Amino acid sequence: MTAGETKWIIEVVGVPIDLGQTQRGVDLGPGALRYAGLRRQLRQLGYELIDRGNLDVPVRDSLPERRQSNDLPAIRDICSAVYASARRTCELGHRAVFLGGDHSIAIGTVGGITHTESVGLIYLDAHGDFNTPETSPSGNIHGMPLATLLGAGHPELVDIGRPGPKLKPEDVVLIGLRELDEGEKQRLKESGMQIYTMREIDERGIHTVTREALQQLGTHKRLHVSLDLDVLDPAEAPGVGSAAPGGLSYREAQLLCELIADTGRLSSVDLVEINPILDEHNRTSTLAVALTASLFGKSIL
Ligand code: MG
Ligand code: MG
Repeated sequence: MTAGETKWIIEVVGVPIDLGQTQRGVDLGPGALRYAGLRRQLRQLGYELIDRGNLDVPVRDSLPERRQSNDLPAIRDICSAVYASARRTCELGHRAVFLGGDHSIAIGTVGGITHTESVGLIYLDAHGDFNTPETSPSGNIHGMPLATLLGAGHPELVDIGRPGPKLKPEDVVLIGLRELDEGEKQRLKESGMQIYTMREIDERGIHTVTREALQQLGTHKRLHVSLDLDVLDPAEAPGVGSAAPGGLSYREAQLLCELIADTGRLSSVDLVEINPILDEHNRTSTLAVALTASLFGKSIL
C-alpha cells in the first residue's frame, strides 16, 4: 500500500475453539496472537484494524465430559457463527484474519468467504486434514476440515452455511505436508488437488513451488491462506499440538508469504493450532504475527 491509496480495513476475529481435538491449550491462541502485536504490526503497514473480539465458544470444562472433544453439535454451532462472520466481512469488502483455535475453524472461515464467489485456498500444514470419519484413526475433527470443505465428512459440518462442497479440488493447493494417515494418503492422491509435500520443497525449492502454486490459483480474484503453524519446523514453532519434524524453515515460510503478498490478491488468513501452553515465551505466536505481516505486504526494503 502506498500513500494516497484507499486504506484497507482488516477485521480480526478470534475463535478460541479447542473442541476439534483432545489436547488442552489451543483455545488460548487468540490471546497469544494479540499479545504478540498483531494489531501494531498491521497498523504499521497502513491498514485500519477492526478487532471484533472473540466469537462465543463454550469453555470445555463447562460441557459434559462426553462433549468435551469432537462434539458435532458444538462444532457445528461454532463453525456456523464463523461462517456468518466471514461472510459479513467479505460483504463489507474487508480483509480478515481469523485467530484459532484448532483447524476446525476453517470449515467456517472458508465456507463464509466463498459464499458469493470462489476463492483460491493456500493450505499450509504438516498434515493433510483430509480425513473423513471413516479414515480418521482418532476421529478428531481438526484432521478433517479440508475434506469437509470438499464435501466429504459429517453431513452436519459439510452443510454449514449452505448445502454441499464449498471448494473444488482445483481451488486448493496444499504446501508443507509430511505426516499423513494411511487412508488419508489414498484420498489425497485421488483428490485432484495440487499437493506440495516437504520432499517436493526440498527438491525444487520453496520459490519454485510457491510460484507454481500461485499460477495454479491464477484465475481467482481472491486468495485465502489457512496457516497451521505446524507447517513450520518445530525448532521454529514449538507451540503446536501436533508437531512434526522436518518442516519449513523461518526463511522458507517468510519467502512463501512474501510471494503471496506480491500477488496483491490476499483477502483473508487463518492462524490456527497455536498452543501457548506448549510454547516457549510466545515464540510461535510472534512468528505467526511476523508471517501475517509479510502476507499483508511487509517487505524487507
Ligand atoms: Mg491443520
Ligand atoms: Mg497440522
